[in-house]
Amino acid sequence: MEVASYDRVLSGRERAALGERAAALVPGLAAKDVEAVALTYVDTSGITRTKAVPVARLEHAAAWGVGMSPVFDAFLLDDSIVTGRFAGGPMGDLRLHPDLDRLVPLAAMPGWAWAPADRVDQEGAPHPLDARWLLRREVALLAALGWSVRAAFEVEWVLSDGEGEDFAPAAGGPAYGMTRISELAGYLRDLLKALAATGVEVMQIHPEYAPGQYELSVAAQDPVAAADTSVLVRETIRAVSFEHGMVASFSPKVLADSVGNGGHVHLSLWNDDDVEGPVNAMASGEGPFGMTADGEAFTAGILESLPALLAVGAPSVASYLRLVPSHWAGAFACWGLENREAALRFITGPLGCRAEAANLEVKCFDAAANPYLALAALLATGRMGVSAELVLPEPVDVGPDAVPAEERAGRGIVALPSSLGEALAAFERDPVLNQTLGEAVVDTIATVRRGEIALFEGASPEEVTEATRWRH
Ligand code: GLU
Ligand code: MG
Repeated sequence: MEVASYDRVLSGRERAALGERAAALVPGLAAKDVEAVALTYVDTSGITRTKAVPVARLEHAAAWGVGMSPVFDAFLLDDSIVTGRFAGGPMGDLRLHPDLDRLVPLAAMPGWAWAPADRVDQEGAPHPLDARWLLRREVALLAALGWSVRAAFEVEWVLSDGEGEDFAPAAGGPAYGMTRISELAGYLRDLLKALAATGVEVMQIHPEYAPGQYELSVAAQDPVAAADTSVLVRETIRAVSFEHGMVASFSPKVLADSVGNGGHVHLSLWNDDDVEGPVNAMASGEGPFGMTADGEAFTAGILESLPALLAVGAPSVASYLRLVPSHWAGAFACWGLENREAALRFITGPLGCRAEAANLEVKCFDAAANPYLALAALLATGRMGVSAELVLPEPVDVGPDAVPAEERAGRGIVALPSSLGEALAAFERDPVLNQTLGEAVVDTIATVRRGEIALFEGASPEEVTEATRWRH
């Protein structure tokens, strides 16, 4: 399915070709003792949902999909269900089609393979709420203008070896301390081994700030692949953690009084029309810190919509317990060179490799976000910035909370929403996101966010973190 249009319908010939390709993969999977393939997608609340098929059924699944209710688009993080205008209720069905190009045996779960799924309706057309398709369409819209984006999600997680649902950090050494690697050296080795065997290119892994917290970063890829990779990385971390008797939490805030887990997104914009090959618009130009005018405009488009983007990228009530100043979470809408307190941290990389390395890091997003929706929304706002030729305010080179409140506006600093309700209000007002995501996606996101706000009405930070800790 290459053409990013919702009118696209799978033809009988395409279904047959997909079935044949899947059948050709089966002997290789059988040789690796794979018994079943898990097909995953991510729901509006950021939870990865799945249906699995025995390998013998893969050919049929590739051609005809696997039935699944569309109701999960209206699930809340506690598995309760709300009803919006476009999702919710017991009626209807859709089909999960494994993406055979991304199908891979899971080294961390022997006997299992995984494939991200495209969700298709009963007529064979993309389901209107399928986030993977939405992202593919955003990629196609940029490509039509001669642009591509390279993206990567950083993954932070906290390990617990507590009894049952109780949280007890599984490693206690100092933040970024070598002790933290020695404490869990075998676990970290097994994790790297499993990721390498699954084709994930890990760039680095390190102990993070909070007790039991680690972080892993991966190489940039095209946006759909980057979102798929973030799902694969998380499920691999989860499986290897279980194997070692621990549980991983990707929640934005694992403990109410500790540093949270971010889900920072790295982005660079590339001009594919240059005769010499793709050129990174985040380097190679005359703008701030070497951006081209288009790189600057792309960044400015994201900056302008940042409060609204939070309803997509920081989508849970717990997200706002994380998004506070002095936690490197980026609680202020502003940008700066290597500024870890700015929601947009611009990174040039070292002199000599900037043409390759320069990128924008969106720090205020977390891992409760559906990575497909998050990237689709970022690409859409960036694209609108380019077409409107937006310019950036002055970069901020201090911690923005140190700037007196009355001086912030003049310096291009805006406090980001401090609750999901505020972010939702900005989202519903944002013209770019309303236009590009479309009515069905916007209504469903708003319905789920409202549902989770109501779910946690009056709850203490401890109650919110406890109810969110093991969900994503
Ligand atoms: N854990 C921090 C967060 O909540 C990020 C730390 C870092 O900059 O890597 O986003
Ligand atoms: Mg980090």
